[in-house]
Amino acid sequence: MALLHFMCSVTPLARAVRSRSVIVSSSRTAVTLSSSSTTATATATTTATATATTATTKTKASPPDSTVLLGMSEEQLQQLAIDFGQQSYRGKQLHHLLYKRRVKEIHEFSQVPLAFRTELQEAGWVVGRSSVHSSVVAADGTIKLLIKLEDNRLVETVGIPVTDDKGSVRLTACVSSQVGCPLRCSFCATGKGGFSRNLKGHEIVEQVLAIEEVFNNRVTNVVFMGMGEPMLNLKEVLAAHRCLNKDVQIGQRMMTISTVGVPNTIKKLASHKLQSTLALSLHAPNQKLREKIVPSAKAYPLEAIMKDCRDYFHETSRRVSFEYTLLAGVNDDVEHAKELAELLHQWGPGYHVNLIPFNPIEGTEYKRPYRKAINMFQSMLESRKITVSVRQTRGLDASAACGQLRNEFQKSPLVTPTIDDVQPEPESEPEPEPEKEAAVAC
Ligand code: SAH
Repeated sequence: MALLHFMCSVTPLARAVRSRSVIVSSSRTAVTLSSSSTTATATATTTATATATTATTKTKASPPDSTVLLGMSEEQLQQLAIDFGQQSYRGKQLHHLLYKRRVKEIHEFSQVPLAFRTELQEAGWVVGRSSVHSSVVAADGTIKLLIKLEDNRLVETVGIPVTDDKGSVRLTACVSSQVGCPLRCSFCATGKGGFSRNLKGHEIVEQVLAIEEVFNNRVTNVVFMGMGEPMLNLKEVLAAHRCLNKDVQIGQRMMTISTVGVPNTIKKLASHKLQSTLALSLHAPNQKLREKIVPSAKAYPLEAIMKDCRDYFHETSRRVSFEYTLLAGVNDDVEHAKELAELLHQWGPGYHVNLIPFNPIEGTEYKRPYRKAINMFQSMLESRKITVSVRQTRGLDASAACGQLRNEFQKSPLVTPTIDDVQPEPESEPEPEPEKEAAVAC
């Protein structure tokens, strides 16, 4: 799985995260209903017809594309209520129960009439919350969850409590967008495990809710930097983004979508004019080296990527963050830093560079650079007026590094696993940190 390295100061915080009311800037704009339709909802509507007497005069919206409540907007939930012959305020109640009260089962919707609950259930509707299969807590307070999806696939999500430079406390959720990843970046654990499937929007949203639950606190930031390539699942990522912003009430500016670059998708994302950060996983200052590190780079020349990133900045006025994983002896020379500075100068303002010292994983010979090499690389960029930070890596103890937890349980995400047959790893003593800034991650 992709590593998440976070720029932060290491503090023992776990729960002292400030309340959402301080940080939210979201507005509640009306959202039009989806135009997609499915037989599942048609069934729901049919089942409800017998009791649907009050709604017949209203125009029915197109039904959503599943029978999962989580991920639906207030307007969609109101329409659902109407489709079931209820008054629209029942939809508002559903919204409250899902996103404020976080009720996980329809039968626990005690404010809602029993008959309505029963009809929803009989029509196949579910809340859409999965169980947490296992979790690992790191010494620094980071918690990694392994969530077991409806089809027994396992997906990782990580909660990272962070104190920033100004002393304010945040809780970041690093969410997965796919089960596995098809892109096989040479240094990333997720790609090595193969690809299974895209996540649905609600399966992304529920990761954030699970993190909030385990920390008993509000998530303030969301980074799409877990398993998978968000741009290969853009529709569902955007659906999750909408829900997290409008329903869960996390500000758009508090979200980051990270991509290694998939042709034509950055433009598409830019056209939505989100107020969220685009993180571009660059890892090399030229096409030749990039292709060695990131095989998918062959399909998307560096020049085209840089142009799309510049356009993203112009469309959204949001600075693009370039992620650069430092691999010893591969891309960490000061000459690479000079070349990177030139590349960025060529493409203009609006950039930030995040240097991520490599977090060693099984199955690669890459090494993490020494501190001195990291400092020299950083200094060279700074001397050329490039805004740069080195991510102080946060996360789990070495025995549960990025991607490994999941793979312990599910060696290949391509095969439907029989979870019941798999025993959790026995608890072991955490290994000592390899160096002061421990490589770790989500
Ligand atoms: N597919 C997306 C999002 C997941 S990766 C992307 O590539 O951006 C999130 C970040 O973690 C990326 O910048 C990725 O390159 C980095 N990463 C993955 N494995 C890593 C490792 N072993 N060490 C350091 N960074 C890693």
